[in-house]
Amino acid sequence: MSGHVFSRATAAGPPRVSHARGVQMFDEEGRRYLDAAGGAIVVGVGHGRGEVVAAMAEQAGAVAYAHGSVFTSEVLETYALELAEVLPVDDPRVYPVSGGSEAVETALKMARAYHLARGEDRSVVIGRVGAYHGNSRGALDVSGRPSLRRPYEPWLGHARHTSTPYEYRCPFPDSHPVGCGARQAEALEELITSVGPGQVAAFIAEPVAGAALGACVPPDDYWPAVAEVCRRHGVLVIADEVMTGFGRTGAWFGSDHWGLRPDLLTAGKGASSGYWPLGLAVASGPVHEAISTAGFVHGFTHSHHQVGAATGLAVLRRLREERLVEASADRGAQLAAEIVRSLGAHPNVGDVRGRGLLVGVEFVADRESREPFDRSLRVTERVVAAARELGLLVYSSTGCADGSRGDLVLLGPPLVVTSEEVTEIVDLLTRAVTSVLPPP
Ligand code: PMP
Repeated sequence: MSGHVFSRATAAGPPRVSHARGVQMFDEEGRRYLDAAGGAIVVGVGHGRGEVVAAMAEQAGAVAYAHGSVFTSEVLETYALELAEVLPVDDPRVYPVSGGSEAVETALKMARAYHLARGEDRSVVIGRVGAYHGNSRGALDVSGRPSLRRPYEPWLGHARHTSTPYEYRCPFPDSHPVGCGARQAEALEELITSVGPGQVAAFIAEPVAGAALGACVPPDDYWPAVAEVCRRHGVLVIADEVMTGFGRTGAWFGSDHWGLRPDLLTAGKGASSGYWPLGLAVASGPVHEAISTAGFVHGFTHSHHQVGAATGLAVLRRLREERLVEASADRGAQLAAEIVRSLGAHPNVGDVRGRGLLVGVEFVADRESREPFDRSLRVTERVVAAARELGLLVYSSTGCADGSRGDLVLLGPPLVVTSEEVTEIVDLLTRAVTSVLPPP
């Protein structure tokens, strides 16, 4: 027989997962893994939540699929209503899709459709260097990671890229400790002006840079300055909250830390905690009004999915009732503090950063010069493998320094992680790091 899964696991013979509960996963051999990555920073409410599974089963039994161009439903409308109470978007209109990349594609099209509806032919979207927004073509184009873009470059090139607040390697180091927000905003404004007046449709960025740069928190003056530049030039702000949404950074959305009110917002991952492939593209009331008056031709077969909405609603209610956003802030502070205590003096640990339960640890060859390791040493991969050997799952990111060099691991356990589990995560991480990078 020749039927095989197109395997995404890099190691030969990946383990076969059998079940998972809370923060723990088990393979068919009975091995236990502490899931400090929430899969891919996805699982918020924890694995194996009966309440979520029951809501999904109930909805599937009532009606699983109804085409979005024909029907809405109680569950879809209730989900949108309850989301409106937590979304940082004015008068939000929610477009449910199947994942983060679809949400980004949808938001990009909404941005252009908005300007066209108002008689402006704006087509350029500005993203940021080092950013990750998904693997479909539009999302890849606004992403700024050379290693992912390189093979597909002939298909890309419509987007432009500006600098990213990455304080450990700040492109404007002379502006600190005050904060580089004003300089970043200036750089964005220069790019908008050089592209040409009335050409830029939107600026897309993660409020806290996640997968690509490893939990880079911008200085407090960044978002107010950048949002002001966008408003002044008629450029819509798209907050990509696929990773940072639904409590991950200790607030409902990353935007909340700075009072950012984006025109468009994308979510995924934590929206369903991984129980269903769910993404959300959210438009503000004014954006929605312009688009829907002109007619927005868009949709996917599985948009506005009934089971997806039931899953999202059940997850949202768990997050609220169990106060998991607050828990993320508390446990996240503990996680970062314990990592600093345990690994902060390690000669190859350059930076420990993050907000809430999104924490990045960047490894360097030299702490003084902040020189990254040569990528051929595969430090990240070896730390991830050593952690897995010890029964700890962490998320990896490489190429953080200049797109081709740099090593870091990202931690993002389910928000239900206990204080004892946080301590166990840090113990195992310390053992993994010191086994790969033994201190002198
Ligand atoms: N945007 C961000 C910020 C992400 O982190 C991701 C996934 N890592 C995506 C978009 C793409 O989401 P998906 O993989 O669900 O398509």
